[in-house]
Amino acid sequence: MDEQHVLAVDLGGTNIRVAVIGESGAVENRTQLPTGAEDGPDAVIGRIGNLINQVAADAGVAADVPVGVASPGPLNPRSGVVHYTPNLPGWRDVPFVEKLSAIVHRDVALANDGNCGALGEVQFGRARNIKNLVYLALGTGIGGGIISEGVLIDGKNGLGAEVGHTVVALDGPRCTCGSIGCLEAFASGWAIQAEAEHIATTADGDMLREIAGDRPIHAGIVAEAARRGDLAAKALLDRAGRALGAAMGSFINMFDPEMIVIGGGVAALGDLIMGPAKLAMPSHSFIDMRAGMTIEYSALGAHTGLYGAAALAFVQFGKVEGSIISR
Ligand SMILES: [Zn+2]
Repeated sequence: MDEQHVLAVDLGGTNIRVAVIGESGAVENRTQLPTGAEDGPDAVIGRIGNLINQVAADAGVAADVPVGVASPGPLNPRSGVVHYTPNLPGWRDVPFVEKLSAIVHRDVALANDGNCGALGEVQFGRARNIKNLVYLALGTGIGGGIISEGVLIDGKNGLGAEVGHTVVALDGPRCTCGSIGCLEAFASGWAIQAEAEHIATTADGDMLREIAGDRPIHAGIVAEAARRGDLAAKALLDRAGRALGAAMGSFINMFDPEMIVIGGGVAALGDLIMGPAKLAMPSHSFIDMRAGMTIEYSALGAHTGLYGAAALAFVQFGKVEGSIISR
């Protein structure tokens, strides 16, 4: 191993993924286990620790190579405590870094998956050499991260940059966070699904019901209905897209980014959601900040979490000379 490496961990509600990742993006010894979230935090952290130790031994990783972990949040990356996460039942103020370090005997960095995603895009993805980035992960929920002049912006406790909970409509739908009219309540996988399920119970839901058949309705079914010309499905995605455009406009005004990178499964809807988003965005942003800014789709795919975790470890433990990110 000539180049620097780190151990990367992608902790999800369904799977734990671990790999050795090099500074140029080479992925080695990638392995995964079911999270088994129902067993509680100690069992899950034990599983992660054992998997790290196994991968490190298999790959011949040196004892001083650090670990980066991308986890669902909210969590405090300074204290290493996971406060709460909806996908992992029973997690409440878990001292994650302390517990994991005791098993792997290595330095451990922890951050939420959205902030890790932003770091991953800068080191390995579309945003290489970009110092001012807004990253949006449109998945079941909406996460993301902000990098300004090469610095990850995450606030006094590292809890910041909850971009999905930007309010885009004061009288909008209720969000899972308790607020009203969040971007996530319009354009996330769960929001699109909930609205489509509602439409399917009405006279406008014929095509959604026909395409879904016996399957539960999800964003992909809405997309297929829209492509076949279904007006209700088109209107739903148009509304989601306009909410996204309004949020992107606000991010442009706040952060003056060089690039917005869109990741996550909902991004696969492509122009069905990005078309109306790009049409709406100019109404909500200053022209001088919009000029020259680009919007890109993430290309990291299934490796997004691992790349983000690796970038976090490289940044936090300074393994890459001349990294543009600093804390
Ligand atoms: Zn919210």
